Amino acid sequence: MRQLNKTAMSTDVKKELWVHMDLRNRKFFGFSLNVLAKTRELAGSTAGETVAVLLGSSGSQPVGGDPGESPELIPVGEAGAECTKYGADRVLILDNQLLAVPRPDFFANALAPFVAEHNPMLVIFTLTDFGRETAARSARIINSGLISECADVSIEKGNVVADCPAWSGDFMGRITFLGAPRTGFLTMQPHAGRAVRVNGRPGLIERFSVDVPDTYKGLRLLSSSPGDMEAQRLENAQTVVVGGAGMGTIENFALVRELATAMGAELGATRPPVLEHWIEEERLIGQTGKSVRPKLLFSIGTSGAVQYAAGVMEAKTIVAVNRDSSAPIFQIADIGIVADAKVLLPHLITRVRQATMRKLTDDLYSAKDHLDTAKDFGAKVRELRESHNWTIEALSEATGQSPDFMEKVEAGSVTPPVAFLLRFAKALKIDPETFLRREEKALIRSLREQAFMKRTRDYSYQTLSPGVESRHLRAFMVTIEARKIHKPVAYKHEGEEFIFVMEGELKLSLGNKDHRLKAGESIHFNSDTPHKLKSMSSETTRCLVVLFTP
Ligand SMILES: Cc1cc2nc3c(=O)[nH]c(=O)nc-3n(C[C@H](O)[C@H](O)[C@H](O)COP(=O)(O)OP(=O)(O)OC[C@H]3O[C@@H](n4cnc5c(N)ncnc54)[C@H](O)[C@@H]3O)c2cc1C
Repeated sequence: MRQLNKTAMSTDVKKELWVHMDLRNRKFFGFSLNVLAKTRELAGSTAGETVAVLLGSSGSQPVGGDPGESPELIPVGEAGAECTKYGADRVLILDNQLLAVPRPDFFANALAPFVAEHNPMLVIFTLTDFGRETAARSARIINSGLISECADVSIEKGNVVADCPAWSGDFMGRITFLGAPRTGFLTMQPHAGRAVRVNGRPGLIERFSVDVPDTYKGLRLLSSSPGDMEAQRLENAQTVVVGGAGMGTIENFALVRELATAMGAELGATRPPVLEHWIEEERLIGQTGKSVRPKLLFSIGTSGAVQYAAGVMEAKTIVAVNRDSSAPIFQIADIGIVADAKVLLPHLITRVRQATMRKLTDDLYSAKDHLDTAKDFGAKVRELRESHNWTIEALSEATGQSPDFMEKVEAGSVTPPVAFLLRFAKALKIDPETFLRREEKALIRSLREQAFMKRTRDYSYQTLSPGVESRHLRAFMVTIEARKIHKPVAYKHEGEEFIFVMEGELKLSLGNKDHRLKAGESIHFNSDTPHKLKSMSSETTRCLVVLFTP
């Protein structure tokens, strides 16, 4: 690492507060604008200047091939103009082709000598992995002090004093720089301030062509690309449910998981559940984990430590559940529920499931009347299926529809019968009594009855027990045309089935086994086994089918 001689820095510091602006993507840039806002407050108390510092390349071609310049990278010119609207008195753009790709080593090598030359009072970085590393490298190069992870900063008797959480947020440290006044470095939490547009005199933008000593000749970035969308599902989710240490055990944590599934939400966690291996590390939310920005976030059994809060501040609505009414999480929550999560969650899960099914029922009616909304209905079915980690086959089996049909439902090209909701609800462990209206139950019953009299091109069946179609024991006469197949029943019925062949010859495929039955022969089987009927004779085959469902 390149080190400057201590004497290279003058002790004559200017009343300038520099903020390094992170241009890697909109999210990080937004964090930097927050820090810029906080810095502006500080500059007010010192009558100093707020200066945004941007590193990048204004040229089109990054040097050294294409090491994966991110399409999300914000061009320096555009970002500079934005900084002036958010309160930067001046904007300094440090330009070099090597800075086209954000690398902490290059950035520090470019920034440190520039800082040494200009002697600002402070250089502030947003607390991200990139900011932390670049700040540490820069400070080291010019032998300056670095205060890490500040939640707040102020000037007291001319000295910088930073408030930094320590011991997992249980203590707040107050830290200052020692020695003669010289540039200090600082990393600040991304939500220490709130970005605000500032009207008035637009800030000045200055460009500097800088050297970037490549001190790491042995290193070359070969490629970089954004993580796959699957991995980013948590960050992009509209609804997130986070569980914390307050859940106590892995078994109780399963309730948080269940709530997330019922809501079709992504699951997240604070650090303790990750350390306890209740959940994988990719689900960690916070300063060292992921930042989420859902419309709705449930935070359950979490205290609201600053390191966690940093990852959820962008959530539109936060609902917190904690049994301690003085827990800090209630300070950032929009809705606070003081309750024991282990008692509350089972009730909440049931209510959410009922509400989900009620909404789905309404959507189904609407989809039947307005075909354009069938796509929305299908999307909701898919969302629920995916949140339960079911394959389309598993859903078909649970709802008694063919996989083909279910695919069409999800694509919005058909709407299922209303009775489908009964089986779907059952699969989701929801009692239909709790979400269906009385007239809907009656309608489903009558639809179910109608469904027992059917005629297709290849087969027909007729109920032999009229009036009791919705009861447990039913009988049908099934007539299958010569050499034709009865609609494959590749899904399960619950209960028992009895088939007596009256005319012709029947092939019954039961699971992996085929049975051939001639007129006068019968079979009794568990109708839970997938089965298929085919007429094997040159005449129609007629069978008496008796079905018992529990
Ligand atoms: C450098 C650093 C980085 C860190 N990064 C992160 C990070 O990225 N993400 C992160 O999460 N943490 C991070 N931490 C740890 C962080 O400081 C906290 O320790 C952590 O967030 C606490 O998690 P928690 O809220 O689940 O647990 P706790 O702080 O133990 O809180 C548990 C809460 O549950 C409540 N509770 C208990 N029982 C019940 C019940 N039955 N029903 C309802 N409520 C109940 C309690 O009242 C309490 O408020 C970091 C720490 C450091 C030092």
